[in-house]
Amino acid sequence: MRDVRHEPRRVFIETWGCQMNELDSQRMVGQLMQQGVLPTKDPKEADLILLNSCSVREKAVHKVYSRLGEYRLLRKERAELLIGLCGCVAQQEGEAALERVPDLDFVLGPGRVGELAQVVARRRAGERVVATGFPPERAYDIDAVARQGEYKGMVTIIEGCNKSCTFCIVPQTRGPESSRPLADVLREVRHLLDYGFAEIELLGQTVNHWREPGGEADFADLLDAVATLPGLQRLRFVTSYPRDFTPRMVEQIGRHANICPYLHLPVQSGSDPVLRRMGRGYSRAQYVDLVAQLRRARPDLALSTDLIVGFPGETEEDFEQTLELVRQARFAATYAFKYSPRPGTAAPRLDGAVPAEVADERLQRLFALQEGIQHEINQGLVGQELEVIVTGWGKQPGMQTGRTSCHRVVHFHAGSEPAALGSTMHVEVEAGFPYSLAGRRLGASAAGSPGSP
Ligand code: SF4
Repeated sequence: MRDVRHEPRRVFIETWGCQMNELDSQRMVGQLMQQGVLPTKDPKEADLILLNSCSVREKAVHKVYSRLGEYRLLRKERAELLIGLCGCVAQQEGEAALERVPDLDFVLGPGRVGELAQVVARRRAGERVVATGFPPERAYDIDAVARQGEYKGMVTIIEGCNKSCTFCIVPQTRGPESSRPLADVLREVRHLLDYGFAEIELLGQTVNHWREPGGEADFADLLDAVATLPGLQRLRFVTSYPRDFTPRMVEQIGRHANICPYLHLPVQSGSDPVLRRMGRGYSRAQYVDLVAQLRRARPDLALSTDLIVGFPGETEEDFEQTLELVRQARFAATYAFKYSPRPGTAAPRLDGAVPAEVADERLQRLFALQEGIQHEINQGLVGQELEVIVTGWGKQPGMQTGRTSCHRVVHFHAGSEPAALGSTMHVEVEAGFPYSLAGRRLGASAAGSPGSP
């Protein structure tokens, strides 16, 4: 057993789910670092283990509980180890999680992330804490965020969700919508730019539903104000809700070259009857029309989407409509999942459960179709010169990776002078694969030719 008497305390954090959770993890680690607790990648050397969980699908919830069981065993080695359940499962389960896992130390919901340090202190003083719910004033210290990565800084602009999609648990786990004031957002973005971040990603469950609290400004105004900040190279935002887009927002996307030509726009289904049962509030035609408006504003726009397969009542014909939409929209990427019933949502009460084997088979067809489309699109980029921000090293020796502004991964030879992480450079695309590109670095000596990553 190692001697821990003179070592700083360590925190190990495991994160599931969306970018909001990623940023929450950075906020939690940042708070602890201000108290001298250092992050570790090895749970065995941690004094505090945090599981930042996602409850969007049932499988993810099971995974969290099985992981809690594994981490509890580490207590045999380290009696002083604390284990906390955070994120959406924490909000959903609350007290029940403490009952189910007898030696779980605390439960911290997404609305209480800013209180982690106090919760840990209360636990060390003997209390098993359940901190859930959504206080109107939420602590958010922009100096207490352990930013990760060299180039992208994430900034939450709106938390929670007021929609009621019938399949979705997020309004329960993340609470009602609450927008941050524009001045706070601009201050945080400015802070990140001064720190050297090249790319800013604005976050929200329905990011384009941001409204100035008590004011008139909407997301179009916010986009304009952020995009014009001096020094901002790339601006992204996620996740947009189709119904919340306005012509003014589309106009801003067309107007500012530093708004990335990439947009995640979840459609969920290509069938109107299914969209109605999902409570999405738009039709297939409205979605297609919005895509056309966006592509008119930004012809180079790469679109990605979310799709649910096997939603209650989905017929073969409905599913065919989804495939047809995928062919028509030519998404650069899709995130498709089998429908997963969630507690407290309306969809499980709908008729027409789709057998698991039918949903599986549909999902495979969708994957095959999308993979072919992505491959075609990426092959169509061969010969183009793209700007990339260098994000890391490839799996093969001597290879580096980068992200284009349209969010594609590019592999390229580092050459004799590897590019610094976070730096910007240009590549000529030499090959397109379904999930990435390979290119030749321009303006630098690079050896060899790209292989399939
Ligand atoms: S908009 Fe719908 S799918 Fe998105 S978080 Fe809100 S309820 Fe869930």
